[in-house]
Amino acid sequence: MNHNMIKTVKFGGSSLASAEQFVKVRDIVLAQAERRYVVPSAPGKRFSGDTKVTDMLYSCYETASRGESIKEIFGQIRQRYDSIIEGLGLSMSLEKEYEEIEVALIHKTGRDYAASRGEYLNGKILANYLGFDFIDAADVIFFREDGTFDSDRTNEILSAELQRHEYAVIPGFYGSMPNGTIKTFSRGGSDITGSIVARASSSVLYENWTDVSGFLMADPRIVENPNPIEIITYRELRELSYMGATVLHEDAIFPVRMAGIPINIRNTNKPDDEGTMIVSHCPPDGKGVITGIAGKKGFSVITIEKDMMNQEKGFGRRVLQVLENCGLCFEHLPSGIDTMSVVVSTADLAPVREMVVGSICTAVEPDAISVEDGLALVAVVGRNMVKATGTAARVCHAVARAEINIRMIDQGSDEINIILGVNEEDFEPAIRAIYDRFVF
Ligand code: ASP
Repeated sequence: MNHNMIKTVKFGGSSLASAEQFVKVRDIVLAQAERRYVVPSAPGKRFSGDTKVTDMLYSCYETASRGESIKEIFGQIRQRYDSIIEGLGLSMSLEKEYEEIEVALIHKTGRDYAASRGEYLNGKILANYLGFDFIDAADVIFFREDGTFDSDRTNEILSAELQRHEYAVIPGFYGSMPNGTIKTFSRGGSDITGSIVARASSSVLYENWTDVSGFLMADPRIVENPNPIEIITYRELRELSYMGATVLHEDAIFPVRMAGIPINIRNTNKPDDEGTMIVSHCPPDGKGVITGIAGKKGFSVITIEKDMMNQEKGFGRRVLQVLENCGLCFEHLPSGIDTMSVVVSTADLAPVREMVVGSICTAVEPDAISVEDGLALVAVVGRNMVKATGTAARVCHAVARAEINIRMIDQGSDEINIILGVNEEDFEPAIRAIYDRFVF
């Protein structure tokens, strides 16, 4: 085996939801000696309508907080793990761990502690089943006093620890605070742990195994049978995920991106599919101008009009200052000569709507100001757009042919995305029209 070729592999909750799924995971891990570090999630749903162990643990914590008995719900959690152990025919027992955890839960040791036990117990089983060492994430993943992830300390200690283990399982989702208590990342955070482990082990690849064969060019609920995305850059992915495409936790990108390690999204249930490769750079491959289309509904446009606005120094700054004072982020800022529009999330605007309008009036004394809701944003993303002339025209033409009115258009100066604003009812038809125009 080439010891320089390390791969970190992370398995999501559905990949480890039952004994049958564990068997698939073992086949995948043992198929390549390079797959040395394994990061598991907690057992997820086995069928639609099933409950994830993490959610059961949160309810367990809440039940204990109300001072009620957790016997029944904790019994169900034990049952989930025991059925995996039995199904795999393992001789191990988690009795000691269950006892410890139950006592801690009764003593309300913390919501994050409760949630983290899902990954902890699953990691114990997986390590035993694979014959790998078990490294408790609490000993190698660290948070700062203010709750943010401490990447330098983690990287130093985790790298040193990994060097002591040729093969190891490191549970995802949690780490520890400076005082030793357990803290978790946000939901779906095992993706982040995988990325951190990949960086600390200088892996050549971070494989993220889930229940889909990578990213699709568009949401399959909108476009019938969309093509898969074979290669995507981190930047393109960031644009698409921001606009609603989800498979990977957003924060999982940063550690591996920093180290230039590609991520390969793979399907545990279809291990022969190549999935999507996420890379730092990708030379133009001529495989199509756009990489993907995503979007979101629920935006509002604040339009401010004032004659000679273009000559009034500090106009834009004063408008944005109002948003900042009201705690609002803005999404886009399309402007004309005497108009300025600010696109914001309708839900975020709702509690401060009157204050925002009133304060803008005071700050810049506009001739007119209006707020219109019901805007949807569609992002057309593609690294090859830089080279292709006329992409914006093709996008607009496709949408116009579908008789959809474009309320706003914005192209980032890096030219990897074009954002269109359309009425919410035109959202799905606009995505379909653009997809059909670019994908044959
Ligand atoms: N088990 C955690 C969750 O359900 C973390 C993860 O699966 O990544 O959010």
